[in-house]
Amino acid sequence: MSQLTQQLHRSEIGDVLENSLAGTRPGYDECLRLLESDDVHLMGLVGGYLTRKKFGRTASFVNNMILNYTNVCITDCKFCAFYRQPGHDESYTVSLEQVEARMKAAWDMFGITQVMFQGGHNPKLKIEYYEDAFRMIRSKFPKVGVHALSASEIDMISKVEHTSTKEVLARLKDAGLQSVPGAGAEILVDSVKQVISPKKISSATWLRIMEEAHALDIPSSATMMYGHVEAKKEIAEHFVKIARLQEKSRGFMAFIPWSFEPNNTQMQKDETVKYSAGGTELLKMIAISRIMYDGLIPHIQSSWLTNGIAMAQMALQYGADDFGGTLLGEEVVSCTGARSTELTAPKIIESVKQIGYNVEERDNFYNVVKAH
Ligand code: SF4
Repeated sequence: MSQLTQQLHRSEIGDVLENSLAGTRPGYDECLRLLESDDVHLMGLVGGYLTRKKFGRTASFVNNMILNYTNVCITDCKFCAFYRQPGHDESYTVSLEQVEARMKAAWDMFGITQVMFQGGHNPKLKIEYYEDAFRMIRSKFPKVGVHALSASEIDMISKVEHTSTKEVLARLKDAGLQSVPGAGAEILVDSVKQVISPKKISSATWLRIMEEAHALDIPSSATMMYGHVEAKKEIAEHFVKIARLQEKSRGFMAFIPWSFEPNNTQMQKDETVKYSAGGTELLKMIAISRIMYDGLIPHIQSSWLTNGIAMAQMALQYGADDFGGTLLGEEVVSCTGARSTELTAPKIIESVKQIGYNVEERDNFYNVVKAH
């Protein structure tokens, strides 16, 4: 009997993991059992095995610039240190000329293949602002993919324009929107959203907008922000809701579990959450993500931004296959003071090579553009 089989037989989650190795994904009850278990390293062995079976010892990353086009926001999420209310001294909105100048600098200096264009819910910005930006990017920087706007930003634009989110997505696709980031999901349970982001779109609306995007052939990622007020059963619900939608729409390319960073947020000031969830919890979430979505959502990201490069190296061995993106210009997480938020391609390549893996650079559709 192999060492792994012995370990599985001794563990209270051995049956769930054995099923997973045999190709049966966990449902809600099994997911909850994984979340309640402390057998993190055993989950990691299975998560890592499933990942290597598919990707070998190769990890990908995207050469990316984050363009936070505005910090003006009327949604007041309690976990957010980035936004400023309209009229605030520190509020800003990036002009089309500034978008172009930043793109040019990132293209000339780093040869980026993706711009992640995200910002606050700014009621002054009409849909033409986004259309003009995407058209300009696609025509002047045709090799750079437009990965832009969370479901809640799309909802905000639909409110500004008094139109449907479907119409907004269709117009933005015409203008050059290629894929949608998974932000804004947090935990897809409304009782949790009521506490951390009561003015933000509901869980059902997030799922509906993602489904609409997928139906228009705009693929997306899905995220989860854990480590705040949620209970384990709510995390399980989140995992399952995303799995159910993916079974229907097949539009999620990747899943990214983020840990909540409390620094400089209202939730830290209120003492609702003082500290982030830590490294072991990250590895557990990465392993469970792979086990839950094996054969369903192809890519799991390492979530280096909130947990650092060293943890990302571990995550690649616990179930992640994608390091994530280089970060140039990111302002949302940096407002929480969470580590350095500048990371260039050579540093990612070196970090992946340090664990004996090969590195591939990808585009926003996860197509390989270059092997390193
Ligand atoms: S997370 Fe987004 S929607 Fe919420 S306050 Fe921050 S910028 Fe606004």
